[in-house]
Amino acid sequence: MIVTEVSKLQTICEEVSSVEEGEEIGAQLLKELTESQNGIGLAANQIGINKRVCVVNVKEPIVLINPKIVETSEETFVFPEGCLSFPNKHIRTTRFVEVTVEADNHEGQLSFSADSEDVNDAFECACVQHEIAHLDGLTMFDREWKQQPIRVEKKIGRNEKVTITDGTETKILKYKKAQPLLESDWSLVEA
Ligand SMILES: [Zn+2]
Repeated sequence: MIVTEVSKLQTICEEVSSVEEGEEIGAQLLKELTESQNGIGLAANQIGINKRVCVVNVKEPIVLINPKIVETSEETFVFPEGCLSFPNKHIRTTRFVEVTVEADNHEGQLSFSADSEDVNDAFECACVQHEIAHLDGLTMFDREWKQQPIRVEKKIGRNEKVTITDGTETKILKYKKAQPLLESDWSLVEA
């Protein structure tokens, strides 16, 4: 069962005392993730275990026991995300382009980078950040990318034409007609 109550997801997880304990939780997480069919990552508190273990399965299954992000790039990217604890919700988040992770079950450091031709690298990099954030009681909504429509409104006239996009479709509309769309998933291409 995947936890969907926000108050439970806000619990900060405790470190596991041994790699063995972590591996047991990791195996449970991978099983749940496989059963979810569309998930690419899962954190222990999403199945009601408040311990610092999470799994990511984009290119290969990775179990992270007591993981820590020890270094991040300054550069960030905007990424579309979902979460098994918030079915049918999709938002855009801001994530670091590169993160370095240490975990008790991996020797040395693990590097994840979205700066690659392979879109799976971006998925994996964003997913690692998403799952480790869960262990700190944070969800994707804490990393939501926010637009600043107030600044835009001041600059553009109501009848001025603007180009907007939702990532797949592009439209040219008068700004007053584009406004409701800009408040949902659409963003301005040019002012
Ligand atoms: Zn999640």
